[in-house]
Amino acid sequence: MVRKMEVLYSSTRDSGKCVTASQAILKGLSEDGGLFVPDHIPTLSCSMRDLVGKNYQDTAYEVMKLFLTDFTEEELKNCIARAYDSKFDTEVIAPLVEAEGTYYLELFHGATIAFKDMALSILPHLMITSAKKNHVENDIVILTATSGDTGKAALSGFADVEGTKIIVFYPKNGVSPIQEKQMVTQKGDNTFVVGIHGNFDDAQTGVKTLFNDRQLAEEMAAHGLQFSSANSINIGRLVPQVVYYVYAYAQLLKEDKIQDGEQINVVVPTGNFGNILAAFYAKNMGVPINKLICASNENKVLYDFFMTGDYDRNREFKLTSSPSMDILISSNLERLIYRIAGGDAEKNAGLMKALSEQGSYQITDEMREQLADFYGNFADEKETADRIREMYEDTGYVLDTHTAVASAVYQKYVSDTKDSIKTVIASTASPFKFTRSVMKAIDEKYDSLSDFELVDELSKIGNVDVPKAIEEIRTAPVIHDTVCDKTEMKAVVKRFLGIGQAE
Ligand SMILES: *Cc1c(COP(=O)(O)O)cnc(C)c1O
Repeated sequence: MVRKMEVLYSSTRDSGKCVTASQAILKGLSEDGGLFVPDHIPTLSCSMRDLVGKNYQDTAYEVMKLFLTDFTEEELKNCIARAYDSKFDTEVIAPLVEAEGTYYLELFHGATIAFKDMALSILPHLMITSAKKNHVENDIVILTATSGDTGKAALSGFADVEGTKIIVFYPKNGVSPIQEKQMVTQKGDNTFVVGIHGNFDDAQTGVKTLFNDRQLAEEMAAHGLQFSSANSINIGRLVPQVVYYVYAYAQLLKEDKIQDGEQINVVVPTGNFGNILAAFYAKNMGVPINKLICASNENKVLYDFFMTGDYDRNREFKLTSSPSMDILISSNLERLIYRIAGGDAEKNAGLMKALSEQGSYQITDEMREQLADFYGNFADEKETADRIREMYEDTGYVLDTHTAVASAVYQKYVSDTKDSIKTVIASTASPFKFTRSVMKAIDEKYDSLSDFELVDELSKIGNVDVPKAIEEIRTAPVIHDTVCDKTEMKAVVKRFLGIGQAE
């Protein structure tokens, strides 16, 4: 028997201390502000051929056991079984749909019809298991900033999960009406949803500040509470995302779309850089992936970074029709920076300090050379809308706005490189989540309809049933109506948790 190789996690800003996977999941973010990274990326212990016969759950086990090495087989299989069940509206969990000769990996068949469900339906189970393993007595308070989709997916994952509370901050005017309605109608006594006057980066910065607030942590501990993060910086979010890239490759192989060992490209509509980093991990585990194509909307900070080696958030923040990608600080990029800095935590910490103080940093030529696996580009609002309309007119398949950004960028990639190898595009949301933008792109005339009339019209023209997640919110009452300034976030958190006097 091969002894399984343990994977430990250290901070991208201090490689001194190592923690186990379960400890990293519990903490979310390291105390020094860094992100937890595995000390090595494990290679798959079975061949892609062996995976062909496996369903999603068994594939998840094969991948996740290699990262979460302090979980027992029983613990991990239990988490997987609870996550990937009938909450998903298809047994295959993540179907591949062929359109225009490209494969769309539909990651939106979970409870909230966006890809965040892929990780957030398992995270609560990983977290509770981690708490038990580490004899944590405190209740876990999940604190999350959302650009729209994380919030609902996290609320849905954690609602009524014993031993947890969840607080979600979202930019009051920065999410789609459907996204907002999904969040503010969330049931569960342990849930709390707050709109802030500000954009996603304000929400995320506020949340990070609260995480690093020692005084608040002490007050919470006195009340038997501790914070953790469900944001995509949590390693418990990242690891489950590696699974579907492995699964997608096995599906292509199973359907004879590719030969064993044949390389594929992966295109990912990117915001916080979590999903594409998972694809990068999949490549490093041994999945034959050629290019990782990073697609941005008009907030094209990542495109500029890949072009120049300068990361510069000092620019106008744009509200686009793909709000989950309206991000100027891609948190998970730090994990890649750490890696291309040769695992030099001090060097990475210096760059991140520059980012927080000047809003920018520059990587060395030596670091840039290690980005050869990546290709970056962006699509503006018109290109995105055109892509939705063209795809619909050509094939009848309706893309959501985020996936359309990826699809438009893929066209640019093909015209730039003439690369014709098989390509998988991560389809990150159902078009029903961004109905107005999608329908307007198909035909301006739809703009006069109400949100739910649009839903019914989309169902008709796209020939797809209205997802359960949308039916549910049609008539649901608003439960959460708190709105606050970004400076009031701490007071709001304390009030919800019932601790101390609001400042
Ligand atoms: C979150 C999200 C993205 C961006 O994913 P990252 O992992 O943050 O890069 C893209 N599309 C949709 C629909 C999302 O919800």
